[in-house]
Amino acid sequence: MLVVSFLRTMPRMTTHRIHNFSAGPCTLPLEVLEQVADQLPDFAGQGLSVIEMSHRSKTVVHIFEEAQQLIRELLDVPDDMHILFLGGGATFQSGMIPMNLLAPGSDGGVKSADYTHSGAWAKKAIADAKAVGKVNLVFDGTDSNFTTLPDPATVNASDDAVYLHLTSNETIGGVQWKDFPTIDTPIVADMSSDIMSRPLDFEKFGLVYAGAQKNIGPAGCALVLIKQAIVDQCPGNLVNHLNYANHVKGQSMANTPPVFQVYLIKLVMEWLKAKGGIAWAKDMADQRSKLLYDAVNQHSGFYACPVDERYRSTMNVVFTTPSPDLDAKFVDEALSNGMSGLKGHRSVGGCRASIYNAMPIEGAKALADFMADFAQRNG
Ligand code: PMP
Repeated sequence: MLVVSFLRTMPRMTTHRIHNFSAGPCTLPLEVLEQVADQLPDFAGQGLSVIEMSHRSKTVVHIFEEAQQLIRELLDVPDDMHILFLGGGATFQSGMIPMNLLAPGSDGGVKSADYTHSGAWAKKAIADAKAVGKVNLVFDGTDSNFTTLPDPATVNASDDAVYLHLTSNETIGGVQWKDFPTIDTPIVADMSSDIMSRPLDFEKFGLVYAGAQKNIGPAGCALVLIKQAIVDQCPGNLVNHLNYANHVKGQSMANTPPVFQVYLIKLVMEWLKAKGGIAWAKDMADQRSKLLYDAVNQHSGFYACPVDERYRSTMNVVFTTPSPDLDAKFVDEALSNGMSGLKGHRSVGGCRASIYNAMPIEGAKALADFMADFAQRNG
């Protein structure tokens, strides 16, 4: 008690923060981290933290309800769509989806789904689906080395597909769907790395999922938006904890849920709402990414971005310098200048700047300036 009251009376020192360009876990709003630090030892005068109290307590249930309500409001999620917070991250969802929707029906008949192969994350989702049912590839970006996407108007669903899966933003490759196909089949989308960065037309989607650790909160939890019509298709003979119907019934508390994650998600959503919501997030994403793509284009003899200009991500900007040695030097020198996490994914190399909602515009400006300076010194 004494320690806590001592800490509360201490003036807050200026916190040392660097610009963190990591792909996820990634930077979170400083205001939110400070709020957590303040609230954690003694939540609302109750003498214990939210991660020590029962998940059935009024306080925690209220936090879950508020987090859901904020997401519903911010994204304008329709009433027929449930909002779930499920442990296990996005990877768990890419497996749960086919288990719920693609498993053979009671007549034993094989079901099929359409998948778009846009990069590393889509590939994992496809592998999971193939373990359960039949997969039709309606787009395969292998030939372009996953640097482009199809025009959504040209994407047609197969007659037998129960859903069409896409990855709205490939975090490793830096390719992003700017619009989504208009088809009768429900779209199931992995939006791990760009949810909450632009408005969505939920008419098109049956299920949207996202690992929390980019635009929403800490890792280990997935946000799942699922229409009742999809829940109605979940098989009765699936083990409970893998069944969406069970999680809808349990209101994200079918077992002891990731309370800390959801508590932070609530705070991040409050922060986003106060900033101006999804319209603000989109505007900032456009501004941040423009600064970096302009820096690449202005020094095009030095930097290269492999991604088709039409589908360049506003969340993950990938680029290379003239050599892997210079890439490494760029990453090291950037770190000495207060910018971390710029190394490209180990599977592709190069550099990558992840600029999610909580990245201040000053971070993108600092990086763009550093890019210009580095190109001049090393070009
Ligand atoms: N999909 C995408 C697009 C991702 O970026 C990631 C994580 N980087 C995942 C899925 C996997 O998420 P998780 O680690 O939460 O399972």
